[in-house]
Amino acid sequence: MNTSKRFDVHCHLFNLDYVFQEAQPMAIYYLFTSVFGEANSKTSQGRIEDIWHYLKKVFDALVVLKGDPATQYYHIQQSFKEVFSKDETICVAPLMMDIFYMFDGILNSRHCAEESPDCLNISKEEAADIILGKVKAYISGMSGKLPEAQINSYINSLENADNLNSEAEKYDFGLAFMSPGYLAQFLALNAMKLLYPKTLFPFLAFDPRRPGIMSLVNNYTGKGKPFSGIKLYTRLGYHPDNKDMKPLYDYCQKNGVPIIVHTSNGGFPPWDDWKYGDYVNPAQWKNVLKDYPDLIIDFAHFGVGGEGWQDTIISLMKTYKNVYADISCYTDTKSLLEAKSYWDNEEIVKERLMFGTDYVMTELNVELNKYFQNFLNIFGNKDMDTLMLTNPNKFLKNGD
Ligand SMILES: [Zn+2]
Repeated sequence: MNTSKRFDVHCHLFNLDYVFQEAQPMAIYYLFTSVFGEANSKTSQGRIEDIWHYLKKVFDALVVLKGDPATQYYHIQQSFKEVFSKDETICVAPLMMDIFYMFDGILNSRHCAEESPDCLNISKEEAADIILGKVKAYISGMSGKLPEAQINSYINSLENADNLNSEAEKYDFGLAFMSPGYLAQFLALNAMKLLYPKTLFPFLAFDPRRPGIMSLVNNYTGKGKPFSGIKLYTRLGYHPDNKDMKPLYDYCQKNGVPIIVHTSNGGFPPWDDWKYGDYVNPAQWKNVLKDYPDLIIDFAHFGVGGEGWQDTIISLMKTYKNVYADISCYTDTKSLLEAKSYWDNEEIVKERLMFGTDYVMTELNVELNKYFQNFLNIFGNKDMDTLMLTNPNKFLKNGD
């Protein structure tokens, strides 16, 4: 690890490509497993509309994301150089997303109760075609909102999703279930890691519901591997105490592989009053940390928006030597000043807090150069060095 380089420990290099590719297999998974009660060989128009209703919300939330991973990476570099140092390259930790199981727990409540059995008249193949048609129509409908080239590239990668499989042949996924969107992200970040081995430190998305996921963790995360750490998103419906998380914690603690867990009162799924909203509460980690006191963990977004979450994170920092937080997605000055007051009043925060952008998500709210500038204005050069350099280098000490 090059300790002289500054870090953005939390960003994302993807656009809607990945979500579009994931949409059809996600829909099929929900339509033809026991999510809607009994597993059936046929489905109904109503159930398809249910799924589409939620898929569309996810597309709508992300529709403005621009560029591809390579141009997004370049954009982070340019914005950083503009504000900090034109001769320096910033190291970035792009985090994968895994939304495949996002709708667990919501889809079983709408249609199926009032449906009569003769509504179930659509086969798996027909359903797959219907969903694909809807995704394509959605993409075409983006015309005018995004450059034509980007829209064409979305259609292209959707139609040529099979090409990914030949690219995937050189990897050993073991028994892991690789849905096309997940696979596309995995391959894109692997390819970029080859181009930028010293400045790119990707994090693999882990969801305990994804079959065989530990094969990926074992084969591709840790020292000398393409992925430097693990990204968790418990808001999507799994608790930190879930028994299927244990192999992950064993591996991460043993090998010094850091974990970044989404910790803000918002995000995906993109709706409020969400039944798994409190899974994000850092207090949910007390048992895990008791069992795995050396786990290296970053509570992303420093618990913003949660009642008392910052205080919980600080008390975990004081108890456990490898507990960190990042201030990513702090796009407004008010929340950044709030973080600054914790910084000023708590010594431990100065040792454990890290800088992150959450770009490309921040593109929804603010230009990236302004984001960098706002941090510099509030924290000043010396503290920015601690946030961007000292603390991330401790967090990622086994990163490469
Ligand atoms: Zn993020």
